[in-house]
Amino acid sequence: MIEVENLEAGYGETPVLREVSLRLAANETVAVIGANGAGKSTLVAALCGLLPVRAGRIVHLGTDVTRLPAYKRVRRGIGVVLEGRHVFGPMTARQHLALGSLGAREGEKRFGVDDVLALFPFLGERLDDRVELMSGGEQQMVALGRALLLQPQLLILDEPSTGLSPLVVKQIMGTIGALRARGMGILLVEQNVALAAEVADRAYVLSVGRVVHEVHKGEWAGFLADDSLVNTYLGG
Ligand code: ATP
Repeated sequence: MIEVENLEAGYGETPVLREVSLRLAANETVAVIGANGAGKSTLVAALCGLLPVRAGRIVHLGTDVTRLPAYKRVRRGIGVVLEGRHVFGPMTARQHLALGSLGAREGEKRFGVDDVLALFPFLGERLDDRVELMSGGEQQMVALGRALLLQPQLLILDEPSTGLSPLVVKQIMGTIGALRARGMGILLVEQNVALAAEVADRAYVLSVGRVVHEVHKGEWAGFLADDSLVNTYLGG
């Protein structure tokens, strides 16, 4: 579904990502894990078109999207929930969902507002509440709902667990499981490796802007048990 080859990107003169290569097939849930400052959010920004790529390429469903602007990538089915959610406080949940529908991928609609409400039942009661009055977890669900209404085939989630209570994190991870069961490709960017291991088939470990290790399918337990790997790349 997406193939990234030798990607380089950064800010100003400073390169952050170097020779990053990864791939995600349809229906796969793949994690990108790494410590603070490893370059995870920079990778997300490059994948969704918010940061220019200096070298390498991004191929989505057979088409080179490396130079496409962000909104065109969304229209092609690459959805994203950025770190920090990026909701608009004074707007209601309903308005956020309407925004998602406005930017949606052309073609088959797999998610309607009813599907979002089925995933996040609390939203049904709070559609007309301003998002700034909601908890962090509720805002994360609004951001996820908005992204689903873009009708993504690939959903990129940047640290969806940050700052949330264990109960809410469990709910979010349950949602990822439900989306995966519906056949969506998911790229989960996480600092919390235990969480990533719960939902992802496999993972790429990013350290100082490079992919330094891959956790293949079936290798999670061995990876988590290897203190030297975890300490070296993830800071323990
Ligand atoms: P975190 O888990 O803390 O979000 P991360 O793995 O997502 O970390 P990035 O946010 O991608 O890491 O940061 C990678 C490097 O790029 C860091 O050294 C950071 O200081 C730098 N960086 C990030 N954003 C910018 C920016 N807008 N301008 C300049 N440097 C930046």
